[in-house]
Amino acid sequence: MKIGVLALQGAFIEHEKKLCQCGAEAFEIRQKRDIDCSFDGLILPGGESTVMGKLLNELGLMEPVRQRIKAGMPVMGTCAGLILLAQHIAGEDTVHIGTMGITAKRNAYGRQLGSFRADAGFKGLGTLSMTFIRAPYIESVSTAEVLAEIDGRIVAAREGNQLALAFHPELEQSAAVHEYFLRM
Ligand code: GLN
Repeated sequence: MKIGVLALQGAFIEHEKKLCQCGAEAFEIRQKRDIDCSFDGLILPGGESTVMGKLLNELGLMEPVRQRIKAGMPVMGTCAGLILLAQHIAGEDTVHIGTMGITAKRNAYGRQLGSFRADAGFKGLGTLSMTFIRAPYIESVSTAEVLAEIDGRIVAAREGNQLALAFHPELEQSAAVHEYFLRM
């Protein structure tokens, strides 16, 4: 299986390593012609959503990525990637790819709790260790299904071919979430 990893900025290398660990092939998406290649799924990594959104627009990638997701390409957005997928960002007018029925709250854990690790149940996978880095959470879902919550805050959701995670599964020992995505 060949998975495209958006490689404009942020934590894309870690996702590529995880994909290799799962026996899948990683393919870096850096420019417009890459998105026209054949691949089976797409990962939007953590990083800075504002910067990634700007680069997606400048490189002419925003619309082709949106269309491929709308056409059913499986996509996993982690952290900043979750923000890219969200149809709404709380307190902002900005929408990036905007294909998923969730409202994201950016930098939601404040400064003190900006980065932390927690164990939580993930629907279908049991308890997982989750690492949060200046993470968003999902303030609400409209059409998406909630897969994980911590202290009443939604940290993972799925809507058909789209998976959004507030945490960083690429930083864990376990490849459970990447395997879950590959099954999608
Ligand atoms: N705070 C970042 C943003 O708003 C996300 C942080 C991350 O991806 N680790 O894009």
